[in-house]
Amino acid sequence: MSKVTPPKYVKQVLITLQSRGYLAYLVGGCVRDMILGVHPQDWDICTSALPEQVRELFPRTLTVGIRHGTVTVLINSHAVEVTTFRSDGSYADHRHPETVSFVGDLTSDLSRRDFTMNAIALPPDGLVIDPFGGIEDIRRGVIRCVGEPPRRFEEDALRMFRALRFSARLGFGVEEETLAAIYEKAPLAASLSPERVRDEIEKMLLTNRPQILLTVIEAGLLDRYLLPRRGEPASELIRLTALPKKALPRWAGLCAVLERHGLIASAGEFLSALRLDGRTQRCCGDCCELLRTEPPRTPKEWKKLLNRYGVDTASCAAQCSDALQSRRCYAALRAVLKSGECFSVRHLAVTGDDLVELGLRGKELGEMLNFLLEYVMDYPENNRRELLLQLVRGTEES
Ligand code: ATP
Ligand code: MG
Repeated sequence: MSKVTPPKYVKQVLITLQSRGYLAYLVGGCVRDMILGVHPQDWDICTSALPEQVRELFPRTLTVGIRHGTVTVLINSHAVEVTTFRSDGSYADHRHPETVSFVGDLTSDLSRRDFTMNAIALPPDGLVIDPFGGIEDIRRGVIRCVGEPPRRFEEDALRMFRALRFSARLGFGVEEETLAAIYEKAPLAASLSPERVRDEIEKMLLTNRPQILLTVIEAGLLDRYLLPRRGEPASELIRLTALPKKALPRWAGLCAVLERHGLIASAGEFLSALRLDGRTQRCCGDCCELLRTEPPRTPKEWKKLLNRYGVDTASCAAQCSDALQSRRCYAALRAVLKSGECFSVRHLAVTGDDLVELGLRGKELGEMLNFLLEYVMDYPENNRRELLLQLVRGTEES
C-alpha cells in the first residue's frame, strides 16, 4: 500500500482492543487517504467491542457519540473515534436512521457506509478487507455507492452532496449509476437542513474544483435555494478557481455568478436561506453590488471605497473582479493599502477629541472630520496633526 502509516497512538488503540480479543480495524476516510498516499485528517476505528467495553479499556474517553456507538478515545493530546460495528435501521427523514443496532460483523458495518472507497477496513496486521471493490475504484478514480445508489440516497440525501464533494476534492469521477441516481433523487435534498447543505457547499467551494457546483445545480440539489433556472453559469463557475481558497471570496464569487445568471435574487437572500452568518451575508451582498459598477481607477477612488466598505469587503470585491471579470483590481488595492495612506477618519492624525477642544460639536464635528478625510485623501503627505489642526482653526475663523 502507501507510505502513509498510522501514528503510534492510533496503533496503540488498535492493539489494545485486539489484545483483549476484540476485532479492530482502521476504517473509512483514513484508509482511503492512506491508499491515496495522503495524510488523513482524522483516524477512525471500528470494532466488535461494545461502547461500554471500549470505555473500560481506556482511561480517558468522551461519550458524546455513544448513542451511535462512538467512543472518542483520548491519548495525550490526540483523539481517536472508536465505533462499534453497526448497521443502520430504516430512514424516515432521508437523513437519520430511526434506529442503529450494534452488529457482530465487519461486513454489515462496511455495507452501511456511503461509497466503496470509504468502505475498506485495515486491521493492525494482516490483509485489507475490501468487500465492495473500493481499492479498485480508488485506483480508477471512481466514486461509487455501496449497494443500490437510489436506495442509498433515499436513506440519506446528504450522500448526494458527499459524492460530489469527494469528486471535487479528489478529482474522481462519479460512477454512471451513482450519478444518474443523484439526478433522480435530487428533490430529496430539499429535506436536508440548510446548515448541512451550507457546510457541504462551503467544502466544495474550498476545493481545487469549485466548478463541481455546476453539477450540483444542474442535478437540482439546490433547487430549494434557487430561482427557476434561466442562464447556465458553466464557464463562469470555473473562474472561481482563480479566487483564493478562502470562504469569503469564494462565497462572494459564487453569489456574483448566480446573481448574474438570474439564479438568485440577491446574495443576502440566498445566503440567509443557507444560514450563513451576518458578516458573510453583508460582505457578499456588497461585493455583488460593487461588481455591478465600474471599479475604481485612481488611488483616491480606492480609498473612498475602502472607507465605505472596509478592507475585507474591498479585498473580496477586488479579487472577485479579477477572477470573474479579468481585471487587475487586487494589485491596485494592495498598492493603496501598502502605501499606508489614510482612508478612514480613524486614521486621521487628529481625533474627534481634538476637534471638541477646538469647540466643534455634533454635526459640525462630523462634517469637519469628513472634510479632513477628503483633504488627506487628496494630499496624503499632509496627514499631520499640527497641519490639520491649523487647517481646522483656519476654516473656523473664515
Ligand atoms: P473526510 O476526509 O472529509 O473526513 P471521511 O470519509 O472521513 O472524509 P467522515 O464524514 O469523516 O468522512 O465519515 C467517516 C466515514 O463514515 C466515511 O468514510 C464513511 O465510511 C462513513 N460515513 C460518513 N457519513 C456517511 C453517510 N452520510 N452515509 C454513510 N456513511 C457515511
Ligand atoms: Mg473523516
